[in-house]
Amino acid sequence: MEKPGDLRREILELRLRLAEAEETLSAIRNGEVDALVTSGRNGEQIFTLQGAETPYRILIEEMNQGALMLIPDGTILYANTRFATFSKTPLEKIIGSNWRYFFPRDKYSQLEACLKTTERASSVPELNLLAMDGSFSPVQLSLRSMISKGVTGFSVIVTDLTERRESENALRKVSDVLLEKNGELETFSYSISHDLRAPLRTMQGFAAILLEDYGSKFETEGKSYLQRIASSAAQLDRLIQDVLDYSRLSCNPKELAIFDLDKMLREIVETYPNFRVANIEISASSAQVRGYAVALGQCISNLLGNAIKFVPAGRVPRVKVWTEVKKGRIRLWVEDNGIGILPEDQEKIFDIFTRVQGNGDYEGTGLGLSMVKKAVERMGGRVGVESELGQGSRFWIELDYVESFSNLLSDCPNPCTGKTGNAH
Ligand code: ADP
Repeated sequence: MEKPGDLRREILELRLRLAEAEETLSAIRNGEVDALVTSGRNGEQIFTLQGAETPYRILIEEMNQGALMLIPDGTILYANTRFATFSKTPLEKIIGSNWRYFFPRDKYSQLEACLKTTERASSVPELNLLAMDGSFSPVQLSLRSMISKGVTGFSVIVTDLTERRESENALRKVSDVLLEKNGELETFSYSISHDLRAPLRTMQGFAAILLEDYGSKFETEGKSYLQRIASSAAQLDRLIQDVLDYSRLSCNPKELAIFDLDKMLREIVETYPNFRVANIEISASSAQVRGYAVALGQCISNLLGNAIKFVPAGRVPRVKVWTEVKKGRIRLWVEDNGIGILPEDQEKIFDIFTRVQGNGDYEGTGLGLSMVKKAVERMGGRVGVESELGQGSRFWIELDYVESFSNLLSDCPNPCTGKTGNAH
Protein backbone atom coordinates (compact mmCIF):
# COMPACT_ATOMS: atom_id res chain seq x y z
CA MET A 1 0.00 0.00 0.00
CA GLU A 2 1.41 3.40 -1.07
CA LYS A 3 1.56 6.07 1.56
CA PRO A 4 -0.32 9.36 0.91
CA GLY A 5 3.06 11.28 0.95
CA ASP A 6 4.49 9.04 -1.86
CA LEU A 7 1.33 9.52 -3.93
CA ARG A 8 1.54 13.30 -3.60
CA ARG A 9 5.24 13.27 -4.72
CA GLU A 10 4.34 11.11 -7.72
CA ILE A 11 1.48 13.42 -8.72
CA LEU A 12 3.84 16.40 -8.46
CA GLU A 13 6.48 14.68 -10.65
CA LEU A 14 3.84 13.75 -13.25
CA ARG A 15 2.56 17.35 -13.34
CA LEU A 16 6.09 18.62 -13.97
CA ARG A 17 6.63 16.16 -16.83
CA LEU A 18 3.26 17.13 -18.30
CA ALA A 19 4.21 20.82 -18.20
CA GLU A 20 7.55 20.00 -19.92
CA ALA A 21 5.77 17.96 -22.63
CA GLU A 22 3.25 20.77 -23.23
CA GLU A 23 6.10 23.28 -23.57
CA THR A 24 7.88 21.06 -26.15
CA LEU A 25 4.64 20.58 -28.08
CA SER A 26 4.01 24.31 -28.28
CA ALA A 27 7.63 24.89 -29.47
CA ILE A 28 7.11 22.28 -32.21
CA ARG A 29 3.84 23.93 -33.23
CA ASN A 30 5.55 27.32 -33.42
CA GLY A 31 8.32 25.92 -35.67
CA GLU A 32 10.99 26.60 -33.02
CA VAL A 33 12.27 23.00 -33.02
CA ASP A 34 14.03 21.12 -35.86
CA ALA A 35 14.83 17.91 -34.04
CA LEU A 36 14.20 16.08 -30.76
CA VAL A 37 16.74 14.18 -28.73
CA THR A 38 15.23 11.49 -26.49
CA SER A 39 16.98 9.22 -24.01
CA GLY A 40 15.89 5.62 -23.97
CA ARG A 41 17.15 2.14 -23.38
CA ASN A 42 19.24 2.28 -26.59
CA GLY A 43 20.91 5.53 -25.62
CA GLU A 44 20.08 8.93 -27.14
CA GLN A 45 17.97 9.06 -30.30
CA ILE A 46 17.49 12.02 -32.65
CA PHE A 47 14.17 12.57 -34.38
CA THR A 48 14.06 15.25 -37.09
CA LEU A 49 10.67 16.82 -37.54
CA GLN A 50 8.91 16.86 -40.86
CA GLY A 51 8.93 20.38 -42.30
CA ALA A 52 12.03 21.33 -40.31
CA GLU A 53 13.92 21.85 -43.58
CA THR A 54 11.35 24.42 -44.74
CA PRO A 55 13.53 27.45 -43.87
CA TYR A 56 16.47 25.90 -45.79
CA ARG A 57 14.24 25.25 -48.80
CA ILE A 58 13.09 28.87 -48.74
CA LEU A 59 16.71 29.97 -48.52
CA ILE A 60 17.74 27.82 -51.51
CA GLU A 61 14.77 28.96 -53.57
CA GLU A 62 15.59 32.62 -52.85
CA MET A 63 19.29 32.26 -53.74
CA ASN A 64 20.74 34.09 -56.73
CA GLN A 65 22.52 30.92 -57.75
CA GLY A 66 21.11 27.77 -59.24
CA ALA A 67 21.17 24.72 -56.96
CA LEU A 68 21.03 21.00 -57.85
CA MET A 69 21.08 17.75 -55.93
CA LEU A 70 22.51 14.82 -57.87
CA ILE A 71 23.07 11.14 -57.35
CA PRO A 72 26.44 9.76 -58.52
CA ASP A 73 25.26 8.95 -62.07
CA GLY A 74 24.30 12.62 -62.56
CA THR A 75 20.53 12.23 -62.21
CA ILE A 76 18.98 15.40 -60.80
CA LEU A 77 16.91 14.77 -57.64
CA TYR A 78 16.28 18.40 -56.85
CA ALA A 79 16.69 21.75 -58.65
CA ASN A 80 15.74 25.20 -57.41
CA THR A 81 13.66 27.61 -59.46
CA ARG A 82 16.73 29.76 -60.18
CA PHE A 83 18.26 26.81 -62.07
CA ALA A 84 14.99 26.45 -63.98
CA THR A 85 15.25 30.14 -64.91
CA PHE A 86 18.89 29.84 -65.99
CA SER A 87 18.19 26.81 -68.13
CA LYS A 88 14.79 28.11 -69.32
CA THR A 89 13.44 24.61 -68.57
CA PRO A 90 10.38 23.71 -66.45
CA LEU A 91 11.27 22.08 -63.13
CA GLU A 92 9.32 18.92 -63.95
CA LYS A 93 11.57 18.38 -66.99
CA ILE A 94 14.72 19.01 -64.96
CA ILE A 95 13.99 16.61 -62.08
CA GLY A 96 14.93 13.10 -63.11
CA SER A 97 17.01 14.15 -66.12
CA ASN A 98 20.81 13.91 -66.25
CA TRP A 99 22.63 17.14 -65.45
CA ARG A 100 25.11 16.71 -68.28
CA TYR A 101 22.40 17.48 -70.87
CA PHE A 102 22.52 21.07 -69.66
CA PHE A 103 26.13 21.42 -70.78
CA PRO A 104 28.04 21.05 -74.09
CA ARG A 105 28.91 17.51 -75.16
CA ASP A 106 32.68 18.11 -75.00
CA LYS A 107 32.31 18.79 -71.25
CA TYR A 108 30.65 15.45 -70.38
CA SER A 109 33.88 13.73 -69.37
CA GLN A 110 34.89 16.67 -67.17
CA LEU A 111 31.47 16.60 -65.46
CA GLU A 112 31.63 12.84 -64.92
CA ALA A 113 35.10 13.21 -63.41
CA CYS A 114 33.65 15.68 -60.88
CA LEU A 115 31.20 13.01 -59.69
CA LYS A 116 33.93 10.38 -59.46
CA THR A 117 36.49 12.38 -57.57
CA THR A 118 37.28 11.37 -54.04
CA GLU A 119 37.65 15.04 -53.08
CA ARG A 120 34.83 16.40 -50.92
CA ALA A 121 34.62 19.55 -53.02
CA SER A 122 35.41 20.28 -56.65
CA SER A 123 34.64 22.99 -59.16
CA VAL A 124 34.45 23.81 -62.86
CA PRO A 125 35.65 27.42 -63.29
CA GLU A 126 33.75 28.27 -66.46
CA LEU A 127 31.54 26.49 -68.95
CA ASN A 128 28.37 27.20 -70.87
CA LEU A 129 24.95 26.26 -69.53
CA LEU A 130 22.67 25.27 -72.40
CA ALA A 131 19.10 26.52 -72.15
CA MET A 132 16.10 24.74 -73.62
CA ASP A 133 15.73 27.42 -76.33
CA GLY A 134 19.30 26.74 -77.56
CA SER A 135 20.84 29.82 -75.97
CA PHE A 136 23.74 29.48 -73.55
CA SER A 137 25.27 31.46 -70.73
CA PRO A 138 28.62 31.23 -68.93
CA VAL A 139 28.42 29.62 -65.48
CA GLN A 140 30.70 28.36 -62.77
CA LEU A 141 30.02 25.12 -60.86
CA SER A 142 30.87 24.29 -57.25
CA LEU A 143 30.26 20.70 -56.21
CA ARG A 144 30.22 19.07 -52.79
CA SER A 145 29.75 15.40 -52.08
CA MET A 146 27.34 14.46 -49.28
CA ILE A 147 26.38 11.19 -47.65
CA SER A 148 22.83 10.98 -46.40
CA LYS A 149 21.42 7.77 -44.89
CA GLY A 150 24.36 5.87 -46.43
CA VAL A 151 23.68 7.19 -49.96
CA THR A 152 26.21 9.44 -51.71
CA GLY A 153 24.91 12.53 -53.41
CA PHE A 154 26.22 15.84 -54.69
CA SER A 155 25.10 19.38 -54.18
CA VAL A 156 25.92 21.70 -57.09
CA ILE A 157 25.84 25.48 -56.92
CA VAL A 158 25.57 27.10 -60.37
CA THR A 159 26.77 30.71 -60.52
CA ASP A 160 25.79 32.76 -63.55
CA LEU A 161 28.81 34.64 -64.94
CA THR A 162 26.94 36.61 -67.63
CA GLU A 163 27.03 39.94 -65.78
CA ARG A 164 30.67 39.50 -64.80
CA ARG A 165 31.61 38.71 -68.44
CA GLU A 166 29.61 41.71 -69.69
CA SER A 167 31.35 44.12 -67.32
CA GLU A 168 34.74 42.60 -68.23
CA ASN A 169 34.00 43.15 -71.91
CA ALA A 170 32.86 46.72 -71.26
CA LEU A 171 36.05 47.36 -69.31
CA ARG A 172 38.16 45.87 -72.12
CA LYS A 173 36.44 48.15 -74.65
CA VAL A 174 37.11 51.23 -72.50
CA SER A 175 40.72 50.21 -72.05
CA ASP A 176 41.12 49.70 -75.85
CA VAL A 177 39.70 53.19 -76.46
CA LEU A 178 42.05 54.63 -73.83
CA LEU A 179 45.03 52.88 -75.40
CA GLU A 180 44.09 54.27 -78.79
CA LYS A 181 43.68 57.80 -77.39
CA ASN A 182 46.97 57.46 -75.58
CA GLY A 183 48.65 56.43 -78.82
CA GLU A 184 47.14 59.48 -80.56
CA LEU A 185 48.42 61.75 -77.79
CA GLU A 186 51.89 60.25 -78.02
CA THR A 187 51.94 60.81 -81.79
CA PHE A 188 50.73 64.37 -81.24
CA SER A 189 53.39 65.20 -78.66
CA TYR A 190 56.01 63.55 -80.88
CA SER A 191 55.16 65.73 -83.88
CA ILE A 192 54.92 68.93 -81.79
CA SER A 193 58.30 68.26 -80.19
CA HIS A 194 59.81 67.36 -83.54
CA ASP A 195 58.57 70.59 -85.16
CA LEU A 196 59.83 72.70 -82.25
CA ARG A 197 63.36 71.53 -82.87
CA ALA A 198 63.81 73.14 -86.30
CA PRO A 199 63.43 76.84 -85.23
CA LEU A 200 65.41 76.07 -82.09
CA ARG A 201 68.31 74.75 -84.17
CA THR A 202 68.24 78.00 -86.16
CA MET A 203 68.42 80.03 -82.91
CA GLN A 204 71.27 77.87 -81.62
CA GLY A 205 73.14 78.13 -84.95
CA PHE A 206 72.86 81.94 -85.19
CA ALA A 207 73.83 82.43 -81.53
CA ALA A 208 76.94 80.30 -82.17
CA ILE A 209 77.81 82.28 -85.34
CA LEU A 210 77.38 85.59 -83.48
CA LEU A 211 79.67 84.38 -80.70
CA GLU A 212 82.33 82.94 -83.01
CA ASP A 213 82.40 85.45 -85.89
CA TYR A 214 81.19 88.66 -84.25
CA GLY A 215 82.12 88.04 -80.63
CA SER A 216 84.81 90.77 -80.64
CA LYS A 217 82.21 93.38 -81.58
CA PHE A 218 80.16 92.76 -78.40
CA GLU A 219 80.79 94.22 -74.96
CA THR A 220 81.30 91.66 -72.14
CA GLU A 221 77.68 92.08 -71.09
CA GLY A 222 76.41 91.51 -74.65
CA LYS A 223 78.59 88.41 -74.96
CA SER A 224 77.20 87.02 -71.71
CA TYR A 225 73.64 87.51 -73.00
CA LEU A 226 74.53 85.62 -76.16
CA GLN A 227 76.03 82.79 -74.10
CA ARG A 228 72.84 82.62 -72.04
CA ILE A 229 70.77 82.38 -75.24
CA ALA A 230 73.02 79.55 -76.47
CA SER A 231 72.91 77.59 -73.19
CA SER A 232 69.14 78.03 -72.78
CA ALA A 233 68.66 76.84 -76.37
CA ALA A 234 70.84 73.81 -75.61
CA GLN A 235 68.76 73.07 -72.47
CA LEU A 236 65.53 73.39 -74.45
CA ASP A 237 66.97 71.07 -77.09
CA ARG A 238 67.74 68.44 -74.43
CA LEU A 239 64.22 68.78 -73.09
CA ILE A 240 62.68 68.33 -76.53
CA GLN A 241 64.95 65.35 -77.18
CA ASP A 242 63.79 63.76 -73.90
CA VAL A 243 60.10 64.44 -74.69
CA LEU A 244 60.66 62.85 -78.09
CA ASP A 245 62.31 59.79 -76.52
CA TYR A 246 59.50 59.57 -73.96
CA SER A 247 56.70 59.78 -76.51
CA ARG A 248 58.19 57.44 -79.09
CA LEU A 249 59.14 54.84 -76.53
CA SER A 250 58.56 51.80 -78.67
CA CYS A 251 56.48 49.19 -76.89
CA ASN A 252 54.71 47.51 -79.75
CA PRO A 253 53.68 44.00 -78.63
CA LYS A 254 54.92 42.67 -81.99
CA GLU A 255 58.42 43.76 -81.01
CA LEU A 256 58.42 41.79 -77.76
CA ALA A 257 61.49 39.59 -77.91
CA ILE A 258 63.84 37.49 -75.83
CA PHE A 259 67.41 38.67 -75.53
CA ASP A 260 70.51 38.35 -73.43
CA LEU A 261 70.64 41.12 -70.82
CA ASP A 262 74.34 40.78 -70.10
CA LYS A 263 75.25 41.17 -73.80
CA MET A 264 72.94 44.15 -74.08
CA LEU A 265 74.59 45.84 -71.09
CA ARG A 266 78.09 45.39 -72.47
CA GLU A 267 76.98 46.67 -75.88
CA ILE A 268 75.51 49.83 -74.37
CA VAL A 269 78.66 50.54 -72.37
CA GLU A 270 80.78 50.01 -75.49
CA THR A 271 78.58 52.18 -77.70
CA TYR A 272 78.47 55.37 -75.63
CA PRO A 273 81.85 57.13 -75.15
CA ASN A 274 80.89 58.61 -71.72
CA PHE A 275 80.10 55.08 -70.43
CA ARG A 276 83.24 53.59 -71.97
CA VAL A 277 85.53 55.94 -70.04
CA ALA A 278 83.51 55.65 -66.80
CA ASN A 279 84.25 53.19 -64.06
CA ILE A 280 81.43 50.74 -64.83
CA GLU A 281 81.85 47.24 -63.44
CA ILE A 282 79.49 44.67 -64.94
CA SER A 283 79.09 41.35 -63.20
CA ALA A 284 75.72 40.35 -64.66
CA SER A 285 75.42 36.68 -65.47
CA SER A 286 74.24 35.67 -68.90
CA ALA A 287 70.46 35.85 -68.54
CA GLN A 288 67.61 35.99 -70.98
CA VAL A 289 64.75 38.41 -70.50
CA ARG A 290 61.56 39.13 -72.37
CA GLY A 291 60.99 42.75 -73.29
CA TYR A 292 61.37 45.51 -75.85
CA ALA A 293 65.06 45.68 -76.66
CA VAL A 294 65.18 49.32 -77.78
CA ALA A 295 63.11 50.59 -74.84
CA LEU A 296 65.11 48.52 -72.37
CA GLY A 297 68.31 49.85 -73.94
CA GLN A 298 67.04 53.40 -73.27
CA CYS A 299 66.22 52.47 -69.66
CA ILE A 300 69.67 51.06 -69.00
CA SER A 301 71.36 54.09 -70.64
CA ASN A 302 69.30 56.41 -68.43
CA LEU A 303 70.20 54.56 -65.24
CA LEU A 304 73.91 54.42 -66.17
CA GLY A 305 73.84 58.09 -67.25
CA ASN A 306 72.35 59.15 -63.90
CA ALA A 307 74.80 56.93 -62.00
CA ILE A 308 77.80 58.72 -63.46
CA LYS A 309 76.10 62.16 -63.44
CA PHE A 310 74.80 62.54 -59.87
CA VAL A 311 78.22 62.36 -58.20
CA PRO A 312 79.64 65.14 -55.94
CA ALA A 313 82.32 67.33 -57.51
CA GLY A 314 85.77 65.80 -57.14
CA ARG A 315 84.54 62.23 -56.59
CA VAL A 316 85.39 59.62 -59.22
CA PRO A 317 82.17 57.84 -60.21
CA ARG A 318 82.13 54.11 -59.49
CA VAL A 319 79.23 52.12 -60.93
CA LYS A 320 78.45 48.45 -60.34
CA VAL A 321 75.89 46.54 -62.39
CA TRP A 322 74.69 43.03 -61.63
CA THR A 323 71.69 40.75 -61.99
CA GLU A 324 69.76 38.57 -59.55
CA VAL A 325 67.29 35.84 -60.50
CA LYS A 326 64.39 35.09 -58.13
CA LYS A 327 61.07 33.28 -58.68
CA GLY A 328 60.98 33.63 -62.46
CA ARG A 329 61.98 37.30 -62.33
CA ILE A 330 65.30 38.92 -63.00
CA ARG A 331 66.42 42.06 -61.22
CA LEU A 332 69.07 44.30 -62.74
CA TRP A 333 70.86 46.48 -60.17
CA VAL A 334 72.78 49.69 -60.96
CA GLU A 335 74.71 50.94 -57.94
CA ASP A 336 76.61 54.24 -57.75
CA ASN A 337 78.72 56.13 -55.24
CA GLY A 338 76.87 59.38 -55.88
CA ILE A 339 74.96 61.98 -53.91
CA GLY A 340 72.16 59.63 -52.84
CA ILE A 341 68.46 60.47 -52.49
CA LEU A 342 66.37 61.43 -49.45
CA PRO A 343 63.82 58.74 -48.48
CA GLU A 344 60.87 61.11 -49.09
CA ASP A 345 62.07 61.76 -52.67
CA GLN A 346 62.68 58.16 -53.64
CA GLU A 347 59.19 57.57 -55.02
CA LYS A 348 58.52 60.91 -56.66
CA ILE A 349 61.70 60.94 -58.77
CA PHE A 350 59.95 58.44 -61.05
CA ASP A 351 57.24 61.04 -61.80
CA ILE A 352 57.45 63.07 -64.98
CA PHE A 353 59.55 66.31 -64.81
CA THR A 354 60.51 65.69 -61.18
CA ARG A 355 64.02 66.65 -60.13
CA VAL A 356 65.16 66.82 -56.52
CA GLN A 357 68.09 68.02 -54.42
CA GLY A 358 71.31 69.11 -56.07
CA ASN A 359 69.60 69.81 -59.38
CA GLY A 360 71.24 73.19 -59.74
CA ASP A 361 74.57 71.40 -60.09
CA TYR A 362 73.46 68.78 -62.61
CA GLU A 363 71.95 69.11 -66.05
CA GLY A 364 68.73 67.30 -66.75
CA THR A 365 65.07 67.46 -67.60
CA GLY A 366 63.42 65.17 -65.04
CA LEU A 367 62.16 62.83 -67.75
CA GLY A 368 64.71 60.00 -67.66
CA LEU A 369 63.36 57.99 -64.73
CA SER A 370 59.71 58.49 -65.73
CA MET A 371 60.63 57.01 -69.08
CA VAL A 372 62.33 54.07 -67.35
CA LYS A 373 59.19 53.47 -65.26
CA LYS A 374 56.85 53.73 -68.25
CA ALA A 375 58.93 51.33 -70.36
CA VAL A 376 59.50 48.76 -67.62
CA GLU A 377 55.84 48.72 -66.60
CA ARG A 378 54.81 48.22 -70.22
CA MET A 379 57.05 45.16 -70.20
CA GLY A 380 55.17 43.89 -67.13
CA GLY A 381 58.08 44.77 -64.84
CA ARG A 382 58.79 47.06 -61.89
CA VAL A 383 61.39 49.69 -60.98
CA GLY A 384 62.69 50.94 -57.66
CA VAL A 385 65.55 52.46 -55.73
CA GLU A 386 67.39 51.98 -52.46
CA SER A 387 69.38 54.98 -51.34
CA GLU A 388 70.71 57.06 -48.50
CA LEU A 389 71.59 60.71 -48.82
CA GLY A 390 75.33 61.07 -49.42
CA GLN A 391 75.82 57.28 -49.56
CA GLY A 392 75.08 56.50 -53.21
CA SER A 393 72.05 54.82 -54.76
CA ARG A 394 71.02 51.41 -56.05
CA PHE A 395 68.39 51.51 -58.78
CA TRP A 396 66.77 48.28 -59.94
CA ILE A 397 64.52 47.09 -62.71
CA GLU A 398 62.73 43.75 -62.57
CA LEU A 399 61.53 41.80 -65.59
CA ASP A 400 60.36 38.33 -66.58
CA TYR A 401 63.22 35.89 -66.71
CA VAL A 402 63.26 33.38 -69.54
CA GLU A 403 64.78 29.97 -68.75
CA SER A 404 65.88 28.76 -72.16
CA PHE A 405 67.47 30.62 -75.00
CA SER A 406 65.25 31.05 -78.00
CA ASN A 407 66.09 31.58 -81.63
CA LEU A 408 64.03 34.77 -81.32
CA LEU A 409 67.35 36.24 -80.28
CA SER A 410 68.41 36.72 -83.87
CA ASP A 411 65.34 38.90 -84.52
CA CYS A 412 65.97 41.09 -81.55
CA PRO A 413 66.66 44.76 -82.40
CA ASN A 414 69.99 46.22 -81.41
CA PRO A 415 69.31 48.29 -78.24
CA CYS A 416 71.40 51.19 -79.48
CA THR A 417 70.45 51.33 -83.15
CA GLY A 418 66.97 49.83 -83.03
CA LYS A 419 67.86 47.76 -86.13
CA THR A 420 67.05 44.06 -86.22
CA GLY A 421 69.54 41.32 -87.03
CA ASN A 422 71.88 39.29 -84.89
CA ALA A 423 72.98 42.01 -82.58
CA HIS A 424 75.11 39.87 -80.32
P1 ADP B 1 67.25 64.06 -64.83
O1 ADP B 1 68.40 63.13 -64.74
O2 ADP B 1 67.06 64.59 -66.20
O3 ADP B 1 67.24 65.11 -63.78
P2 ADP B 1 65.66 61.78 -64.11
O4 ADP B 1 64.21 61.55 -64.31
O5 ADP B 1 66.59 60.81 -64.73
O6 ADP B 1 65.91 63.24 -64.59
O7 ADP B 1 65.91 61.82 -62.55
C1 ADP B 1 65.03 62.54 -61.73
C2 ADP B 1 65.76 63.01 -60.48
O8 ADP B 1 66.10 61.89 -59.67
C3 ADP B 1 67.07 63.67 -60.75
O9 ADP B 1 66.90 65.03 -61.07
C4 ADP B 1 67.82 63.46 -59.44
O10 ADP B 1 67.40 64.43 -58.52
C5 ADP B 1 67.33 62.10 -58.99
N1 ADP B 1 68.27 61.02 -59.40
C6 ADP B 1 68.17 60.21 -60.45
N2 ADP B 1 69.17 59.32 -60.50
C7 ADP B 1 69.94 59.57 -59.43
C8 ADP B 1 71.15 59.01 -58.90
N3 ADP B 1 71.73 57.97 -59.50
N4 ADP B 1 71.64 59.54 -57.77
C9 ADP B 1 71.03 60.58 -57.15
N5 ADP B 1 69.90 61.17 -57.59
C10 ADP B 1 69.36 60.68 -58.71
